[in-house]
Amino acid sequence: MEDIQTICQQTICSTYARLPVVFVRGEGCRLWDEAGREYLDFLAGIAVCNLGHSHPEVAETLCAQAKTLVHVSNLFFTQPQVKLAAELTRLSFADKVFFANSGAEANEAAIKLARKYSKDRHGDGRFHIITMRDSFHGRTLATLSATGQEKVHKGFEPLVEGFTFVEFNSLEAVAAAITDKTCAVMVEPIQGEGGVNLPKPGYLPELKALCQKHDLLLIFDEVQTGMGRTGTLFAHEQEGVTPDIMTLAKALGNGLPIGAMLATDEAAQAFTAGAHATTFGGTPLVTAAAGQVLQLLSQPSLLATVQEKGGYFMQRLRELQSRHAIIQEVRGRGLMIGLELTVPGTKMVEACLRRGAIINCTHDTVLRFLPPLIVDNDQIDRLIEILDEVLKEDSP
Ligand code: PLP
Repeated sequence: MEDIQTICQQTICSTYARLPVVFVRGEGCRLWDEAGREYLDFLAGIAVCNLGHSHPEVAETLCAQAKTLVHVSNLFFTQPQVKLAAELTRLSFADKVFFANSGAEANEAAIKLARKYSKDRHGDGRFHIITMRDSFHGRTLATLSATGQEKVHKGFEPLVEGFTFVEFNSLEAVAAAITDKTCAVMVEPIQGEGGVNLPKPGYLPELKALCQKHDLLLIFDEVQTGMGRTGTLFAHEQEGVTPDIMTLAKALGNGLPIGAMLATDEAAQAFTAGAHATTFGGTPLVTAAAGQVLQLLSQPSLLATVQEKGGYFMQRLRELQSRHAIIQEVRGRGLMIGLELTVPGTKMVEACLRRGAIINCTHDTVLRFLPPLIVDNDQIDRLIEILDEVLKEDSP
């Protein structure tokens, strides 16, 4: 057979600028390529494999379920789906869950629910949603329209109507944007694709108060921040505030395609029979695996180590900052960490890969680290050594 990278270029739409490596196997925080070369993974499939690659208990649950029942559709009840919903609601603010297949789909459900809730309650014309500049909510037409980044919109106009973008972290900007057409505010508790941007203390609780004052639903997109990434099961737990709607995906399946929209009973009442649907959402196969993932990721002992290791990692990155003038800022929470550079970071991602470490660059100048949550301090030290070498090479 011809080389995989050549066949990929010939046969798969070129929507990704892929790095030149073909992975064949993963275990924990490590991946191996076709030639048997080992890599240290500080990306986890973009905040997905939080339990590490090929987690034995998840793999076992998945294999057992594959041999038992894979799919019957949502016209029937299945045990794994209902058990997962019961656990998600027990462990969160939410009363109801809608299962989807990705983050974008979970956000589509949230957008539709907000519009429908407002229509049922207030009648026509109240369908605008305020979202943030530099946000990212997905690539379907509605979710790219909700995304506050022009490069994501380009070429797909006309966009879905009714999204207003305001500065992240500015309550004044939200207050000024509210009109009699507004039905909801949608925000990532920490912006991921936008460059690992943290909320100012008090911003999210005050945003909730503003929403309550104007009878707007508050939607937290926790697709990237959720499932233990920041050291609590959901990032908003550290902010002392709960939303009306939350979306999850990515690490919920540790690599299996699953998304979920969670809502309070009050908000969820607008989703009546036939209001929304998906053939694959919440199949027994993915929900059995996600149930196992949730059980492991919600353990307080694991979540505590995420905060500890995140603290250690950030301290080691700050040491690097003191030696490398091109590091402008180190910021993050738990194991969602960004390193803002004064120069574009793509070359450094490539240089790390050549040295056997996988990292990512987002928003042009932010090196982003999203390792599996089981990463250890020796692996963090090894990455710091590699970064030190790479930054030396690239320093002006
Ligand atoms: N929301 C956030 C915050 C994300 O980071 C992403 C993906 O990066 C999405 C939504 C879209 O998720 P998906 O790629 O699964 O559609």
